[in-house]
Amino acid sequence: MVDMPLRLLAETMDKLELITARTQMVALLVNLFKATPPDIIDKVVYLVQGVLWPDWRGMPELGVGEKLLVKAISLACNVSEREVEQLAKQTGDLGKAVEKLKQQLQSKATGATLFAFTQKASTELTVLSAYNTLVKIATTQGEGSKDLKIRLTAGLIRDSSPKEAKFIVRFIEGKLRVGIGDATIMDALATTFGGGAFSRPIIERAYNLRADLGEVAKILATQGLEAIKTIKPEVGVPIRPMLAERLSDPREILVKVGGEGFVEYKYDGERAQIHKKNNNIWIYSRRLENITHQYPDVVQKVIDHVKADEVIIEGEIVTYDPETGELKPFQELMHRKRKHDIHLAIKEYPVKVFLFDLLYLNGKDYTVEPLPERRATLEKIIEKSDDFTIAEYVKTNTPEELEKFFLKAISEGAEGVMIKAIHKDAVYQAGTRGWLWIKYKRDYKSEMADTVDLVVVGAFHGKGRRGGKYGALLMAAYNEEKDVFETVCKVGSGFKDEDLDRLPELLKPYIRDRKHPRVVAEMEPDVWTDPVLVAEVIGAELTLSPIHTCARGVIKSDAGISIRFPRFIRWRPDKRPEDATTSRELVEMYSRQLKKITIEPTTEP
Ligand code: ATP
Repeated sequence: MVDMPLRLLAETMDKLELITARTQMVALLVNLFKATPPDIIDKVVYLVQGVLWPDWRGMPELGVGEKLLVKAISLACNVSEREVEQLAKQTGDLGKAVEKLKQQLQSKATGATLFAFTQKASTELTVLSAYNTLVKIATTQGEGSKDLKIRLTAGLIRDSSPKEAKFIVRFIEGKLRVGIGDATIMDALATTFGGGAFSRPIIERAYNLRADLGEVAKILATQGLEAIKTIKPEVGVPIRPMLAERLSDPREILVKVGGEGFVEYKYDGERAQIHKKNNNIWIYSRRLENITHQYPDVVQKVIDHVKADEVIIEGEIVTYDPETGELKPFQELMHRKRKHDIHLAIKEYPVKVFLFDLLYLNGKDYTVEPLPERRATLEKIIEKSDDFTIAEYVKTNTPEELEKFFLKAISEGAEGVMIKAIHKDAVYQAGTRGWLWIKYKRDYKSEMADTVDLVVVGAFHGKGRRGGKYGALLMAAYNEEKDVFETVCKVGSGFKDEDLDRLPELLKPYIRDRKHPRVVAEMEPDVWTDPVLVAEVIGAELTLSPIHTCARGVIKSDAGISIRFPRFIRWRPDKRPEDATTSRELVEMYSRQLKKITIEPTTEP
């Protein structure tokens, strides 16, 4: 089997850590991909993403926590665990500590051992051997597995150069997972294998239909762009979800969708993409995690009520009160996730499934079909029941009817409505937030018509009653064009005492010694964090601020968009950082708010 030195990957990752300019990042990745044999490009892409396989495969985590890593480093470098810990404190993290230790070992080497080092270089670590060992570390389970994991990790570190050791330790710690965005990797794939930037949207479409960037890269590198163009969804491999824009004026909404559309309940539950191949069922969440094990009851409903062999459908799972039949909010469903005894949880938090889309059926890709066609076919393959049915909807072309349905939806426990285009081009835009779907949510009694989802990028120490804890968080929006996170506000209110108590533990794995390269900020928090955690936030209104970087320069040259009186509402564990509200959306919300302020008075009689 073809292979390549791990050195090439480790050196690239080392350089990537120091640069923030997207073009330079892409150029480095292009060099790496060019040096990669096509047969192992999937593994290289995964390692760059900081994973061994896509998360949705639901395979075990590496299971080597900080303590075990310290042990492994101490074994590999022949120093005490305390020394490793001290060095990690001094240098800021374990990755740098191991790099330093390996450098010291190298320079200490006497003539004889130097000879041994030179010998080692001729049998240097390869990508495949390192990958396979990491897989072994991840999949070792049961009695004695802890020791074996330490030994395997120590072995890897022992055999590696200082830079390789740093890469391996960072990988095991999970620190690489947010280092380089998928968007940047796709840019590099387009240049390396797609013939240039024109192929970028084609690659992205393939990735949206099959959320496995390693596999997409491999098809591209081994079979070429034509194969990528004809890629179809595959049962078992999640499709990146289509997302909605937001508006709160029924008239404007109808214009945007082309005059008429389906208006559906926007249920307040968990999005579920359900895959079925005969009696094998997979359920994927909004962020493409495999959540099948949490919903054995839904699995049974799918087997009983979906009359098709191979199919991918989408819907919302909602919990309800079995006595009254009343739907309950998302937070209630989250209790169910925390329960270990799933069979009790099923009784305590029973669910209904409201289906709203069909993406694939028996070899046919339905994402390219218009919504009415998808819906009609979905109706044909579902045997409806009380708790497994199609989302409530009407077809309308009048703002009055839309508003009436919206009020009805809310009175029945929905969050609002989704308005969906039904013209001939109203396809399923996988992985895209677009105007073919528009969400119209109930007002949160605030000038800001809707909440936003922002990513934590730093935290501030608390004062007074909050002394010794964190008192506020620095929050950022996602800029999808630049693939970075831009700060929007500092949130200190809205937290309950138990939220504040939990913060140190929640943030701990993500604390870092300096700003993450994908974060654009001017405000300096007391601690920086990796951009990972997403929270829902609301405020009084959107404003311009000279210290925040969100969409800076778009509305005004030296100011970004910010939120006045921001309040924390809840965590959004179902969202990845890239699913946060984007800087572009905030620009739209800001412009809309301006329109409201300036237009409304003049339209008064
Ligand atoms: P939000 O934070 O408002 O839940 P989101 O970012 O998760 O939104 P959007 O596409 O903006 O995703 O809003 C649609 C979400 O609403 C879907 O992800 C899905 O979970 C949920 N939903 C509920 N009912 C429907 C429906 N009938 N059609 C589509 N999505 C629905």
